[in-house]
Amino acid sequence: HSKVRYNSFRKSFYVEPAELADMAEAEVDELRLELDGIKIRGQDCPKPVQKWSQCGLPAQTLSVIRQLNYEKPTSIQAQAIPAIMSGRNVIGVAKTGSGKTIAFLLPMFRHIKDQPPLESQEGPVSLIMTPTRELAVQIFKECKPFLKALNLRAVCAYGGSPIKDQIADLKRGAEIIVCTPGRMIDLLAANSGRVTNLKRVTYIVLDEADRMFDMGFEPQVMKIISNVRPDRQTVLFSATFPRNMEALARKVLQRPVEIVVGARSVVAPEVAQIVEVRADDVKFHRLLELLGELYDKDDDARTLIFVDRQESADSLLRDLMRRGYPCMSIHGGKDQIDRDSTISDFKNGVIPVLIATSVAARGLDVKQLKLVVNYDCPNHMEDYVHRVGRTGRAGNTGTAVTFITEEQDRYAVDIAKALRQSGQKVPEPVQKLVDDFNEKVKAGKEKASGSGFGGKGLEKLDQERDLAR
Ligand code: ADP
Ligand code: MG
Repeated sequence: HSKVRYNSFRKSFYVEPAELADMAEAEVDELRLELDGIKIRGQDCPKPVQKWSQCGLPAQTLSVIRQLNYEKPTSIQAQAIPAIMSGRNVIGVAKTGSGKTIAFLLPMFRHIKDQPPLESQEGPVSLIMTPTRELAVQIFKECKPFLKALNLRAVCAYGGSPIKDQIADLKRGAEIIVCTPGRMIDLLAANSGRVTNLKRVTYIVLDEADRMFDMGFEPQVMKIISNVRPDRQTVLFSATFPRNMEALARKVLQRPVEIVVGARSVVAPEVAQIVEVRADDVKFHRLLELLGELYDKDDDARTLIFVDRQESADSLLRDLMRRGYPCMSIHGGKDQIDRDSTISDFKNGVIPVLIATSVAARGLDVKQLKLVVNYDCPNHMEDYVHRVGRTGRAGNTGTAVTFITEEQDRYAVDIAKALRQSGQKVPEPVQKLVDDFNEKVKAGKEKASGSGFGGKGLEKLDQERDLAR
């Protein structure tokens, strides 16, 4: 690449509309939550838009959208379009049918239109790779109304149909190629490279990336991409984002923004969620009641109790032992071997009650776990969802009881959110804490929590996770 003279080009077209600039961090979190729980990873991701008019798209594009009766951007579009329009490399994960195609097409058209027209012999500006012929055809069809309006040309290239026709199409010139990776390699090699080339490619789409790699296209994709200028813009869309794809994504996308829509973030319906406002000095008594009720009915049940600090774990352990409940504790202060043997005793039923801090109980999966008690209230939504999700696994039912004190009104905001999101009613005393807190924010006595889903809370949890690893 250092020997090729590439022309400079522009990737960033997005200007944040004033109405979005005014939005507070907490409002943005709330909006992402409403947009099917958008989760972001990576730095400086723009805020999601709510209307087509906020995307910075040209009038011709907007008018086609109107003709298609696309009322407003879907969730993935709302977040991916401003990110891609800002010139970022984007990984977009959202389920099938969520409108991913438009999410990469609209910014792509803007990107292409910014560049000088193709001269004869020049190859495409944009390369869309997808695993199957059907998908290629589908994307091609979605391009069509825009091509006319914007005066652009696309070629659809896939295996299993005569390469001659596709060669003829390409020779006429096209700004866009929609292709399967195998056929693209054939076309690049055809007529000793005179049919098409990658010199002008500045925008690459990997669509349905998970299937592409399931089908073994990784070597072809890598071969093609490595022949495209490194300062290109690359976007990857997929219905799922399995771990083994992460490594590859890191190779082809620099500093990406990762957008995940509808990630499992809500509490499963199998978990009955109870939230009680309790003062610190009555919590222990209430805990004994809960344990009494449970073990009267089911002596094989397991209980997991969450506290926020090591010292609290140890003192609660002493108090419960005194009351005749065999229990153990796990927390960051114990070594791994110790923790492992405790968890195995808990699983085997040697001890029915386990006291833990959030980090230590990460990933814990115990079938007989019937009751989770948040003895100390979790301080952000992700942590709440994680803790409560230790029960109600694999189709079993479970109960989660959370104690929250009046002083913890700040945390009530996230917990109420989690309840609403999983379709449960917010109990009146909890709602009152939320209202009280919001009043304080209005009066300037408190800062908005904004620790909810996807925001600082998530970052903190990620850091904790990394530490725990
Ligand atoms: P995915 O790639 O996520 O599986 P598609 O991009 O194929 O989903 O879109 C699914 C359907 O939704 C298509 O028929 C498309 O025309 C339609 N669609 C896309 N965006 C919108 C929108 N903003 N409003 C309404 N329909 C849309
Ligand atoms: Mg698709």
